[in-house]
Order: sequence, then structure tokens, then C-alpha cells
Amino acid sequence: MTRDPLPHLVIIGGGFAGLWATRALAGARIRITLVDRRNHHLFQPLLYQVATAGLSAPDIAAPLRHILGDQRNVEVRLGEVTAIDKDSRQIILADGSHLGYDTLMLCTGATHAYFGHDEWAADAPGLKTLDDAIALRRKLLLAFERAEAEPDPARKAAWLSFAVVGGGPTGVELAGTLAEIARHTLRNEFRHIDPASAKVRLVEAGPRVLSTFPEVLSLKARRQLEKLGVEVLTGTPVSDINSDGFQLGDQFVPARTVVWAAGVAASPLARTLDVPLDRAGRVPVQPDLTLDGHPEIFVAGDLAALSQADGRPVPGVAPAAKQMGKHVAAIIRARLENKPAPGPFKYQDFGNLATIGRMAAIVHLGRLQLSGVLAWWFWLAAHVFFLIGFRNRIVVLLNWAVAYWSYQRSARIIFGDDREDRRRKAIPSAPDPDETSSR
Ligand SMILES: Cc1cc2nc3c(=O)[nH]c(=O)nc-3n(C[C@H](O)[C@H](O)[C@H](O)COP(=O)(O)OP(=O)(O)OC[C@H]3O[C@@H](n4cnc5c(N)ncnc54)[C@H](O)[C@@H]3O)c2cc1C
Repeated sequence: MTRDPLPHLVIIGGGFAGLWATRALAGARIRITLVDRRNHHLFQPLLYQVATAGLSAPDIAAPLRHILGDQRNVEVRLGEVTAIDKDSRQIILADGSHLGYDTLMLCTGATHAYFGHDEWAADAPGLKTLDDAIALRRKLLLAFERAEAEPDPARKAAWLSFAVVGGGPTGVELAGTLAEIARHTLRNEFRHIDPASAKVRLVEAGPRVLSTFPEVLSLKARRQLEKLGVEVLTGTPVSDINSDGFQLGDQFVPARTVVWAAGVAASPLARTLDVPLDRAGRVPVQPDLTLDGHPEIFVAGDLAALSQADGRPVPGVAPAAKQMGKHVAAIIRARLENKPAPGPFKYQDFGNLATIGRMAAIVHLGRLQLSGVLAWWFWLAAHVFFLIGFRNRIVVLLNWAVAYWSYQRSARIIFGDDREDRRRKAIPSAPDPDETSSR
């Protein structure tokens, strides 16, 4: 058997950066292996919709094998990468196998960070993967069920007390939608509670929510949230979280359901590169997105730390990751064809959108600033347009049309059981004497 003469590119991570790079190299004379620990590409901007029962998991994800099935120069490999050995040019997978590369692209993204309080994770789960979204959906829906069955008024109120920590786009989306579920979706469905009496709090340590937007828009967002029934608490950080609630300043707020939407930390795989990382664990890269002294290693997407010409960092958003992915592909193609490489990476900022709930959003595109219904239609069109797959677009549109007219959310089935929760919290699966404490 003759050896394959084509150079080998290994891409770790089939998110926005990795997938966009892979697709941009269609037809190139290179052998690509795309490695991901999940079998799907995920549209994270709509994860909160799965967590709040508006959409089902397959509506916002697509199998990588299917997306890339027709691209002959790509092989998809399911596996978790645990280390990178720059010297021998190999990656090491969790099953112990090694994979050699000529060029490596590392784009394993970011995950949530608890600012040194990892013990909060069990009581305040975050939202990053489909597993997270489904676990969160279960937790949110079960809270209403527990409240319905709880005879003690104080405990009932604690089950009907929800808090979202972090006033960025994800926190705002979650809080707004939760309020909508409590006020509208569940109306008339319970006999011993009024879901509309649920407290939904959004807690932000900084002075305002959506701080990356102009102040006037973030004020409008706050008003829209309050109109939906969300209590917005700014200016004080949460200092403790446990299964009964959270500590805010000198006040303990009872809440059986706390959701974490605050910190972000880079994928831990970056540490195995053995280079200095920034405070969030991201990899500082050269203007062409390579690792200093290693032109054969590219880092892109949320994992890369790069400043723009004005000194501001390239933000950790999907458009930046896609643009980086395409830029890396353009450099690799130029190298393959012995052509001059494109110049340094320049992030093109097309604007910022955030939705707050039904018919409420804010949009910031250059000089254009929109809020309310018009912004919501804009947000909706953009998200449907950027979803991968025709089927997904149709299903999401249909779901949203039904939700718009009926306030109903189609994915309200609770599945999984308490044993699953115990496994997540690493609690031994013994009978739980206190039903109200098992979630
Ligand atoms: C809840 C949420 C909402 C968001 N909303 C928006 C929004 O509205 N607009 C916006 O622009 N951005 C949004 N973002 C940010 C956006 O999703 C990210 O900026 C973008 O996904 C970054 O792309 P990436 O390719 O760097 O990483 P990702 O898209 O996160 O992809 C990383 C990939 O690497 C894989 N991976 C990780 N570790 C390993 C490993 N060790 N081995 C193998 N595979 C691995 C993962 O499975 C994943 O497929 C949101 C993010 C979240 C979490």
C-alpha cells in the first residue's frame, strides 16, 4: 500500500471555528481529520430555547458526519482529545490513541467558570452543551411540579423562586423566557399553585445588564425584562450558592433553582500546549492566528486571545469564530498553493443582538439601535438564517409560529430520573429520605 502523499490537517473541535475552516477547505489538496467529542455541531445561541422547552435538541444541532458527508477530503472522528504533543506533532485521545498531524487547528471553545467556586456548579448549573440544556429544562419544569406537591408555604415559595446569575445575553434570555413560562405557558395547568406568582430574579454584579451594548439599549432591556415580571438586581455579586438559595450582600435569598450564566473559561485542553495563557485560560496567538514559534499550529474561536487594532479583544462570539475559521483555511490554502498568505486576521463586527423574551429584543448594528418588537423580528430572522440545515430552519420557524400564537412551548416533556441527577452531583444512589431535596 502506498502512503498518502497529502499533508494531514487535524482540526480539534467542530464548533463554529472548526466547522467553518473545514468547509472552507472543500476541494483543497489536503487530508483533514475533524475530531470532536460530540457527534454534532451545535448552534449555541439557541441553547436557552432547549433549556426552556421551546425547542428540542435536534432542532439546533446537526451531525458532523451529515454536514460533511459530501466533502471527500474530510474524515470525522468522534473522540475527546486530552493532550497535544507539539514536539512529536501528535494529539492524544482519551482512549489512549495518538493521531499525527502536519498542521493542527485547535478550536475547542470555552466553558463556564465559577470564579474559583466550582462547588457552586452542582446547585447552579450552567449552559454550554445539549446535555446541560436538557438537564436544566428538567430542573426548571420539575421545580413547578415540586411546588405543586409541597404543602409547606415557605418551601412552596422556595420552589417557585428562580434566579439567573449573570446579566449577559444568555442570562437575559433565560430570565425573560422563564418569566414568560411562569406567567403564560403554565397558566391554568396547576391546581395548588399559581405559576404566575413565581419569582424570577436576574442577578448581575456589574451596574447594568447587557453591558456590551450601549447604555441606552441596556436600560431598555432592563425595562423590557421588568415588564415581563423579572426582578433585576444589579451592583452586587452573589457570594454563595447552595441548594436552598443564594447570598446577595447580607441577604440570603431562598431559591431552589439557580442557573449560572456568568463566567467563561477557555477549554482546559489549551493547558497541554505548554505556553503562557491569559487570565481566562485562552491562548495568545499571532496576528495570523498561529502559536508563537509554531507556524504549523493554529488556534481559533473562543480559545484564541487576540487584540484588535484598537486594543479591544476579539470577542468570544460566533461570527468571530467563523471568521477566524475561514481565515485559517485561507492561510492553509495559500500555503498549499505556494501563494502569498492573506494578511493578519481582522475581525469584522456586524453588530450585536440579544432577545429578552416574546416580542422583545435589542439590536445594535453600527449606528442602528433597535429595541422592542422590531428588534425581535430582526433577531428571529438572523437566528433562523444562521441555523445549519434546512430542516432545522423549518422546524424552528414552525415552533416559534405556534409559540407566538399560543404561548405554548413544544418540548415540555420531562425525562431522565433522579438517579441521573445523583450521578451528576456524584451523590451515591441511596434512597433519598427527603423527597423535596432530590432534584
Ligand atoms: C448559551 C450560549 C449562548 C450563546 N449565544 C450567542 C449568541 O447569541 N451570539 C453569538 O455570536 N455567540 C453566542 N455564544 C457564543 C458562541 O457560541 C461562541 O462564541 C462560539 O460557539 C465559539 O465557537 P468555537 O468554535 O470557538 O467553539 P464551540 O462552538 O464551543 O465549539 C467547540 C467544539 O469543540 C469540541 N470540544 C471541546 N473540547 C474538546 C476536546 N477536548 N476534544 C474534542 N472536542 C472538543 C466541542 O464539543 C465543540 O464542538 C453563545 C454561547 C453560549 C454557551
